Order: sequence, then C-alpha cells, then structure tokens
Amino acid sequence: MAKKIIRARNLVLVLGDQLDAESSAFDGFDPAIDAVWMAEVREESTHVWSHKVRIALFFSAMRHFRDRLKSLKYRVEYCTLDAANNAGSLGAELERTILANPPASLIVTEPGDYRVREMLIGTAERLGVPLDIRTDRHFYSTTADFERFAAGRKQLRLEYFYRELRKKHGVLMDGDGPEGGDWNYDAENRGTFGKAGPGLVPTPAAFPPDSITRDVIALVEAQFPDHPGNTARFDWPVTSEDAEVALADFIEHRLTSFGEYQDAMWSAEPYLYHSRLSAAMNLKLLNPRRVVEAAEKAYRDGRAPLAAVEGFIRQILGWREYVRGIYWRSMPGYLEKNALGAHRPLPKFYWTGVTDFRCLQDALGQTLELGYAHHIQRLMVTGLFALLLGVEPKAVHEWYLAVYVDAVEWVEAPNVLGMSQYADGGVMASKPYAASGKYIQRMSNACKGCRYDPAKSTGDTACPFTTLYWDFLMRHETLLAKNPRMTMQVKNLKRLDDDTKQSIRAQAESLRISLL
Ligand code: FAD
Ligand code: SF4
Repeated sequence: MAKKIIRARNLVLVLGDQLDAESSAFDGFDPAIDAVWMAEVREESTHVWSHKVRIALFFSAMRHFRDRLKSLKYRVEYCTLDAANNAGSLGAELERTILANPPASLIVTEPGDYRVREMLIGTAERLGVPLDIRTDRHFYSTTADFERFAAGRKQLRLEYFYRELRKKHGVLMDGDGPEGGDWNYDAENRGTFGKAGPGLVPTPAAFPPDSITRDVIALVEAQFPDHPGNTARFDWPVTSEDAEVALADFIEHRLTSFGEYQDAMWSAEPYLYHSRLSAAMNLKLLNPRRVVEAAEKAYRDGRAPLAAVEGFIRQILGWREYVRGIYWRSMPGYLEKNALGAHRPLPKFYWTGVTDFRCLQDALGQTLELGYAHHIQRLMVTGLFALLLGVEPKAVHEWYLAVYVDAVEWVEAPNVLGMSQYADGGVMASKPYAASGKYIQRMSNACKGCRYDPAKSTGDTACPFTTLYWDFLMRHETLLAKNPRMTMQVKNLKRLDDDTKQSIRAQAESLRISLL
C-alpha cells in the first residue's frame, strides 16, 4: 500500500540557531495540522572551514531540540547530515521537501544571516509557496528600532543606543536615571591580574557529551576529518536546561569579578571570569532577557557589585543588540568593506597555532582546541595582529566565522570587519583598535614567556606587534590624522626620527615576507 502523504498546513522552518519552541515561528502552531522542518546540511559547515566543535554543537543542539518538539507531539521533518537523500544545502534541501510534499505556507523567525534570508525568500518565490517571516523576539530591539535610532545621526555610537534600551526596558534603572548615578562603569572594568596572576579561578560548569552528542561527534569526525578543532574536550550546553545551569553557575561564581577582569588575559586560563553563554544565546537555547534579569537580580540581592553587573549587561543589552542593528543596516555589501585597503593573506599559523609569538600562540591554541577565546583575545590579539599586518578583511571574517563556537554572521561580521579591522571606515568603531605589544604586556602574562620584547620595534627581539603598530600608523597617517581620537598616537609617531621610521618600515616588510 502506498504511504499516505500528510500535507502540512504550515511548515515551520527552524534553522540551527533558532532552537526555541517559544519563538515567533511557533505562534499559532497546531500540532494536528502543522509541521516543523529542520535540516543538517554540509554547506553550512563548509562555506567557511568550520571548527569541528562548532559543527558538533549546532547539530547536537538541533537534535536535542528535535527530540523536545517530538515529545510535545509535534511532527518534525528532520534531515540528518548522513541521510542518503540529503541535498547538501539549505536551499536544495528545502526545495526537495516542498516538492515532495507542498505545504500551504512556510513560516520562519527572521534568520540571523542575510544570505540565508535571501535564499529562503528566493526558494519560496520560485516554488510559489507563501513565506511568513516573523520578528525575532529574542532581541530587545527590532531592526526597525535600530533604523529609527540611526536615522539622521552622523555617527552611530553604542552608548546612546544602550541608554535608550535601558530606559525602554527598565534595566538597572533608578526612577528615570541610571542605577548608581552613572550609565557606564567602563573605567572600573579594566583591571589586570598583576604579577601574582588570577589565582584560583572557579571552573565553569561543563556539559560532557551525552549519547546524542557522542553520535554527532562521531559523525563530525567522519565527515569533516580535516577541519580544525578537538571534539575530545566538548563540554558546551546543548539544551535550554543545560544553558540555565551554565547561567546559574556564572551568576553565582564568576559574575562578581567579571567587570574588573573583563579585559585581562592569562596563559592557560581560557575562560577566566567570562560567562561562556554566547553560543547558548546565539542558538536561542537561552533568552538574553533571562541572562540580563539574572544579572540584575544578583545586584539587587547584594550578591554582585554594580560595576560588574552593569559591565556584563552592557555586553548583552548594549553590544549584542547594537551589532545586530549595524549588521542588518549594512547588508548587503558589508562583507566586502575594506576601508584601509588591506590585501595581505591571513598567516597560515591562524589555522595551526604554530608561531613563536607567545600571545598569538595562547589565543590561537585555545581557539583551535576549544572554539573559544574571550573578547579581548579576539579583539586585541588575533584581530589586532591581522589589522596591523594589513590582512584582507574578508579573509579575517571567514576565519572568525569558522573557528568560534558562537560564530554567527550577524554578530561576527560587525565585530570583525567593523570593530577589529576598521574595514567599514568607522561605522562600528570610532577609531581603529591599534596598539603595540605594550598593551598585551599590560593585560596579560604572555610577554614574560616570549622571546620578543614589547618595548622594541626593531632588531632581533623586536615584538612583531610593536613593529607593525608603528608601521600601521605610518601607512595610514593621513587618514588617522583626521580622527580626533587618534591625535595622541599620531603625535607620538611624529616624534620618531626618519632613520627610526625607515628601520621600522624595513623590519615590518621583512616580517611580512617571513609570514607569507
Ligand atoms: P562574556 O565576556 O561573558 O560576555 C557576555 C555576553 O555578552 C556574551 O556571551 C555575548 O553574548 C555578549 N557580548 C560580549 N561582547 C559582545 C560584542 N562585542 N558583540 C556582541 N555581543 C557581545 N560574539 C559572538 O557571539 N559571536 C561571534 O562570532 C563573535 N565574534 C567576535 C569577533 C571579534 C573580532 C570580537 C572582537 C568579538 C566577537 N564576539 C562574538 C563578541 C565577544 O567576543 C563574544 O561574544 C564573547 O567573547 C563570548 O564569550 P562569553 O559568552 O564568555 O562572553
Ligand atoms: Fe606577543 Fe609581542 Fe608580547 Fe611576544 S612580546 S607575547 S609577540 S606582544
């Protein structure tokens, strides 16, 4: 007897970073007549050379979510990566599903990637199926809110957007003003560990693989053997329950010191006082509102100081919302930006971690092993080196999109192209984040174990960051001189005599050649 085809009224499309049954796509969902579509596809893991842990995290979280939906008696059409008929890309797989069993309409919560949104719109149009794209309620602000904020402003700055959101959502407010009298406690968020180091840092909650994750890891190892990453140490939250445990653990054990040590780095301490919650939030296992509320409650209950809580909330209610606004306002075209005209290739050691530059060894080593580095490592070590060297921004973007477990384009691209590479010419950041090795020396212990000297810009032991820093200022002096926030740095450059400048240029050039 032929298999009876059950036609779905609505097919709810759930992408790998939309794992929440409360999301807008499920509004009005009727398990009796609607169905859910999910697909693991090769293309999403290979359009950049994805880290094995990132692939495993996505697939494992998707499979756990599929099982949760099934336990709610939802009909889920789920295509695993190794299914014989898997079409290999989201577009092809969706088309195959629609042609086999056309639904009355498609529903999806706004995708995070411009590329995926365009593909869905194109596929639905081509196949003549109505597509309903719904607002993503995981964010405090909509893309239209950001447009309203940006309209008519010559320069966009986080601070004003952040304040608006604080007021609108009543976060850390005291009446009409900010709790504690100040909007921002950034000045208290720049501590270092000093010579003694961080001491005993509380170990973050870990989530060893269950049988679903183990199956996924075996699949990833078989299908993507040459991709970077070590799945043996996989310990990320893959369900909303896990993510709640990770949040509670952070609030109880690390939030109090988050603010002060937010920018500090220490060898062999990958997580320090950071939350490790980005991937859970980006996959929608954890609602950012839960995170912000939990942090504010810790302050109100007297369990965490205001500077730490404000500093943490600013990252989520501020930066996370802000970069999303920048992304959607700037696409398409943002990925091609290259305001500084940088065209060098990314050094090969970004994919191997093999270098004698100690700070890069630390940041790249943990990135390639764990799929994680904290903000300052991403901005002021790996990002800074690429900026100073003059690497093509798109190559930098592709590397970041590949190697971090939390990498999704709406958040990665503005951070990489805008904040760290200044490729957008100042939309995201008011000045290039350019610094010499002395910054790294101040914020970490890496230079102590390094054969180079952060104070030297020329000679055998010159720190590559310091050499390239001065060279960067020289190469872009005309542009930087127009930026009031770069006045001091340009002034310092002018103090160097011509011979010194010439030696730095020569050293920078031989460094660049040695890195080819
Ligand atoms: P914590 O330090 O504990 O911070 C708390 C939360 O604040 C994070 O989980 C994150 O959701 C949010 N947050 C902090 N900084 C930012 C920021 N600049 N932009 C947006 N949200 C922020 N974050 C990603 O989620 N995905 C990325 O692909 C990504 N790429 C980055 C690339 C570069 C070059 C830089 C400089 C930053 C990038 N970030 C990215 C932002 C930030 O580095 C990570 O969110 C953070 O390191 C994740 O670790 P955590 O959860 O322990 O964060
Ligand atoms: Fe990095 Fe330079 Fe310090 Fe070495 S001396 S760790 S290369 S900043």
